Amino acid sequence: GGTVRFENVSFAYDPDRPILKDVSFEVPAGRTVAIVGPSGAGKSTVSRLLFRFYDIQSGRITIDGQDIRDVTQDSLREAIGMVPQDTVLFNDTVRYNIRYGRWDATDDEVEQAARLAQIDGFIRQMPKGYDTEVGERGLKLSGGEKQRVAIARTILKGPPLLILDEATSALDSATEKDIQDALDRVASGRTTIVIAHRLSTIVAADEILVLEAGRIAERGSHQELLAQG
Ligand code: ADP
Ligand code: ADP
Repeated sequence: GGTVRFENVSFAYDPDRPILKDVSFEVPAGRTVAIVGPSGAGKSTVSRLLFRFYDIQSGRITIDGQDIRDVTQDSLREAIGMVPQDTVLFNDTVRYNIRYGRWDATDDEVEQAARLAQIDGFIRQMPKGYDTEVGERGLKLSGGEKQRVAIARTILKGPPLLILDEATSALDSATEKDIQDALDRVASGRTTIVIAHRLSTIVAADEILVLEAGRIAERGSHQELLAQG
């Protein structure tokens, strides 16, 4: 499962300033759709609406045909995994941060998720900046390491739906490639919405939507959009 549909969605935070204007798209179950566009276009708003942080003014958002207005925010949080641009970690162990929200997970499950995100060295060894005063606490991880923790958490949670909101944009290009590979593994077979501001960072999305000033200005495959220029 996990098909997401936006049907003629219009939304404004502030009544006289529309942000999304009659936006319609579908992310078929297991597929990846990317939303690209300049800063302020309304890309992150799409993900906030999926979590029902705000109510839309018109249209309909459904997951597997069910209007999300009929779904609790708690269920939405369960169903949707999100890797944001900057992951804020709890001031606790890597293990704690990976397990967050899946307290029933076994040590084996946590370690498997850590391995897939290639951060397994960290839960057994000492993280960079290990502070002998505070034991494993007082984590000091690089941006890429933090993203790996977020990815491991998402793998462990195993949600049917995944949102990657500029998940690699804060990283240097060598790290970005590595993290991109890890994200591709998590996205594979999962319904995924990728938010990015540059078309160049999107490789294999099934469909790319170009959002400009709250409207879908163009849509197509990577090649189609590049051909149009
Ligand atoms: P993008 O992700 O494409 O950069 P956003 O969806 O974050 O764009 O924001 C779209 C527009 O909505 C921006 O002009 C932004 O300033 C405005 N906006 C975002 N969040 C709020 C909010 N909570 N209240 C009012 N305006 C907001
Ligand atoms: P499909 O959904 O067609 O089965 P995959 O799930 O294997 O494809 O992969 C999803 C694709 O989305 C990846 O190949 C990758 O190019 C793209 N992708 C995933 N995460 C990101 C990201 N953060 N930024 C840009 N592109 C991404």
